[in-house]
Amino acid sequence: MPQAKLGTVLEKVISLTSERDSDALQLELAQTLFTLADVKDVTVYSAGNIKRAQHTLSNEEDLSKETAIEPDLIDVLNECLETSNTINIPYRAKMMTLFPLFCSNKQSLAVIMVEEKAGSHHHDLTIPILKIYHNFVALMNDNERDTLTGLLNRKTFDLKINSIISDLRKNNDNSVENNAESAYLTIFDIDHFKRVNDNHGHLIGDEVLLLFSQMMSKNFRDQDLLFRFGGEEFVAVFQCPDDETMTNVLNRFRKVVANFEFPQVGQITVSCGFTKIDPLGFASNIVDRADVALYQAKNNGRNQVLHYEQLIATGVLTESEDTGGEIELF
Ligand code: GH3
Ligand code: MG
Ligand code: MG
Repeated sequence: MPQAKLGTVLEKVISLTSERDSDALQLELAQTLFTLADVKDVTVYSAGNIKRAQHTLSNEEDLSKETAIEPDLIDVLNECLETSNTINIPYRAKMMTLFPLFCSNKQSLAVIMVEEKAGSHHHDLTIPILKIYHNFVALMNDNERDTLTGLLNRKTFDLKINSIISDLRKNNDNSVENNAESAYLTIFDIDHFKRVNDNHGHLIGDEVLLLFSQMMSKNFRDQDLLFRFGGEEFVAVFQCPDDETMTNVLNRFRKVVANFEFPQVGQITVSCGFTKIDPLGFASNIVDRADVALYQAKNNGRNQVLHYEQLIATGVLTESEDTGGEIELF
């Protein structure tokens, strides 16, 4: 490879791997593919929502657009996710490359579909560039997640909560009919978890945490954000139409946990405190409010879901109890 060309390739790789934000990284990937591999379009399909293209970035139309998926493509995308193989297919008279993204525990993240320009001689760089991107995304993904459960970790929560709130603010502002879903933050804390460790040992305790996190992933939706906050404490951010639905969703989960027979341990229960996220509020206050509701649940028999705003409205708590400042979790 000529020195000048090698220099361009290396510069592109450097700017690709200097990104930390996943949207900016996708954009950088698309630009690298446009410049170095003569690619025409790059579309990202998220594993959690394969029917909807996350982004189509076009080298020719100079616009970023979100598009609905063509029905006959769904099977091929699913095959790509399931086999983790790169697939080349002719699709509507175009040549497409489907490239799977997955993290180190083999969990699928997305499929990147690339449309190459006909007659270009630079296609040999497409796969190597996608592989560098894949390694980098897998590394970023591992960094964001808790090793035991695979859920997002506390560091990610701290980094993301402010942008989650500002996204909500934008959604609220953009919603003409003002019928946007509300967002809620819930803290889950396993009841008497210390006893599990004391009676069965740490390894069995870890297994309970893993099973619990799997129940969360299975029972909540892909777009809900699930975090392991600390030992046996978990946090989730949900989009939900109203308070009543949120209460029902959480109670359904609480009952699923209470009815599950954990190997060797038997039954465990969970207490939950939740609050509606005020898009104009501060992250620390939001966590505090959910924590106050959780504390109330713990002091009133555990194995229950309590809603902060309802506790205030019904006079069970007064607003001043919210000013604790320091966040103390169980
Ligand atoms: P409560 O119902 O009030 O929440 O009681 P609890 O026993 O769950 O609460 P407490 O906060 O007293 O104890 C939490 C225990 O969680 C203490 C610690 O032994 C355990 N723990 C924390 N992190 C881990 C972990 O990573 N693995 C295991 N196995 N146990 C952990
Ligand atoms: Mg606990
Ligand atoms: Mg705790």
